[in-house]
Amino acid sequence: MPTDQPPEGATSPDARPRLSLAVPTPRGKAPRHLADLDLAGRKAACRDAGLPGFRADQVSRHYFSHLTRDPARMTDLPASQRDQLCAELLPPLVREVRALRADAGRTVKYLWELHDGVRVESVLMRYEDRTTLCVSSQAGCGMACPFCATGQMGLTRNLSAAEIVEQVRHAALASARGDLTGGPARLSNVVFMGMGEPMINYRNVVAALHRLVDPAPEGFGMSARSITVSTVGVVPLIRRLAGEGIPVTLAVSLHAPDDALRDELVPVNSRWKVADLLDAAYDYFRASGRRVSIEYALIKDMNDHAWRAQRLAEELSRRGRGWAHVNPIPLNPTPGSIWTCSTPQAQQSFVDTLRCAGITTTVRDTRGSDIDGACGQLATEVLNQERARTQ
Ligand code: SF4
Repeated sequence: MPTDQPPEGATSPDARPRLSLAVPTPRGKAPRHLADLDLAGRKAACRDAGLPGFRADQVSRHYFSHLTRDPARMTDLPASQRDQLCAELLPPLVREVRALRADAGRTVKYLWELHDGVRVESVLMRYEDRTTLCVSSQAGCGMACPFCATGQMGLTRNLSAAEIVEQVRHAALASARGDLTGGPARLSNVVFMGMGEPMINYRNVVAALHRLVDPAPEGFGMSARSITVSTVGVVPLIRRLAGEGIPVTLAVSLHAPDDALRDELVPVNSRWKVADLLDAAYDYFRASGRRVSIEYALIKDMNDHAWRAQRLAEELSRRGRGWAHVNPIPLNPTPGSIWTCSTPQAQQSFVDTLRCAGITTTVRDTRGSDIDGACGQLATEVLNQERARTQ
């Protein structure tokens, strides 16, 4: 049991994870941006600024189809209105502080600074058949999972819808420009698995999802099937997401099939238990038609026992066949820490047990672990930067 151990990334041995569902008040509101608004809202914003409403449509196409916010490139707009339109609808929201490359240039981790100095990260990954961006939906996280460095930062604030969408636009542009090894590529997938618990920023995350999937000029027109929203299990909001009519893939960070261990590994389990969470995930599958991903970080001697794999298989099969796909994720190795990766034998036995029980199981790639870009490591760079700034 991990209760008496300091969490991953803690600076003091007495540190204990502290769950918080509350969202701190931000120091100032992010400037309003067209990606915060639907097209009707953008037209109203134009009219309020004394500009014709239909210009919102043109600016939106530049932003979502041509991925630009540069007035000089908007040559179909009257020169006299371009700067004002861009100032009204496309204020700068994210500034690139650093881009770190790994995996022979097929992975890039970006560190962004937001309008109030807050820093977040996103990771762009090129695979054989797809290019995926992992986005942050919050600065920090209040869920306090003890094996995750981000959880030790606490939550600073929610990101606005446009701050999320801007991470996507930058990645789509970098990908199209050929910044990743392998030449130009289309950004095909977005996963909400960076910093934060997306459900705690529900309204802005759903608005961002609309911008991602709605066709131009409303949004980028990506396929909902290629977008994944990950949650540790905020059950009421999983149920609400099922009713939004945006059939994104749901990923549930389960990490333990039994409440006794999950209460310790994923503190939000004290509010919503494994059975309620899996019921909500199954109902999400039935509402969306999308198979649910069950994420399971394999932690040495903690949750990686074959009997737990069997228990997980039983919990899933009890609700139906083929509705869930398990992704065991080898935790990134932290030598000497209790939060370290399972042995290859334990991992294999866990996977074999699930497969023998008829559960589709794929061990997830941990891209970017050499730049702290893999799951649960996104905080490292931000923490280092914060420390350097306050010293
Ligand atoms: S694992 Fe996810 S939900 Fe848990 S603390 Fe880390 S970022 Fe938050």
